[in-house]
Amino acid sequence: MDKAKVFFIPVENGKDIERVNYLLKILIKESNLLEEVEQNSLVAIKLTFGEKDNRGYINPRYVKTVVDKLKAKGAKPFLTDTNVIYKGKRMNAVDHLETAYLHGFTWENLGCPVFIGDGLLGENGWDVEINKKHIQKANIAHFIFYIDYLVVLSHFTGHLLTGFGSTLKNIGMGLATRKGKLQQHSNIKPKIIVKNCRLCKLCMKVCPVEAIVEKENVCFIREDICTGCGDCLVACKFNAIEVSYSESVDILCEKMVEYAYAVLRNIKKKVFFNFLIKITKECDCLAKDDPSIVPDIGIMASDDPVAIDKAGVDMVRERSGKDIFKELHPQASLADIQLNYACKIGLGKINYELIKI
Ligand code: SF4
Ligand code: SF4
Repeated sequence: MDKAKVFFIPVENGKDIERVNYLLKILIKESNLLEEVEQNSLVAIKLTFGEKDNRGYINPRYVKTVVDKLKAKGAKPFLTDTNVIYKGKRMNAVDHLETAYLHGFTWENLGCPVFIGDGLLGENGWDVEINKKHIQKANIAHFIFYIDYLVVLSHFTGHLLTGFGSTLKNIGMGLATRKGKLQQHSNIKPKIIVKNCRLCKLCMKVCPVEAIVEKENVCFIREDICTGCGDCLVACKFNAIEVSYSESVDILCEKMVEYAYAVLRNIKKKVFFNFLIKITKECDCLAKDDPSIVPDIGIMASDDPVAIDKAGVDMVRERSGKDIFKELHPQASLADIQLNYACKIGLGKINYELIKI
């Protein structure tokens, strides 16, 4: 059976930043995956800057190594992520940029700009018709349509709902707008938290079906009219619109994979790196430092988003001697559901050849 290539370089001590950076340079050189980037091409480097107080995000030094390589090819790289839907320091572009800068993702450190891909509040999205099992139209960051190349840098971690998170999650959830994230997480309509509502009525202005009404100085959403589009969530600046994380974990995973499909089918050239260093129980959205759950493993690179995640899952299982993500998150979806569905809808191959460098 046809196999995708996954390049792998082992890392014994992820705390030795100089050594890891050196190994990353070797991986980039030996895998040859960034060689075809063309002069003047716009290259989005998708990563997660980490929630405030989190320390698991990919070290800016490693990101600079990728940036330097792209600039040496004459390309125009920029770092990007989208706003999140839960409370924290990445809900809007201002807080998000501040968090990125505080974590060292600055022009001074990296020599390239940071761009929050879905706009100030998540308004800069575009519907892509994919007509898949769960998602008919995916709302993804609009800039995706204009880039020449996508480089995805993912920190491989566990996840409360999806079991594990790496390349597929970084793309499917990470390049969806806030509205798209709501669509993946929830199957019911948002609600207004009355105590937070300032009656600014912006949500009423943006609601396309006039589902938000005000009565005796209280705004509420009429569930019989609301289509669950998420526009009000994007508009409200006061955390007064609540989302219920109500989707079943298996369906959430399949929706996330369908979103990854919506993103990737619009980009011809892409390459993926997974960092299996400081592998934590939770993802980098956790607002605190999370300890490692297995010893450091290494860095992977591939042009196949399914194969690289499958190789990561296999290695973590092998290193821990068990399905550690299932043990840590028994309520979460099994890793294989995410991977098998991604393979089924044509995102990539589940079979891979590991090329150890
Ligand atoms: S946008 Fe937010 S604060 Fe303003 S009326 Fe709507 S729910 Fe209330
Ligand atoms: S989710 Fe969409 S349809 Fe429902 S109230 Fe909000 S803006 Fe209106």
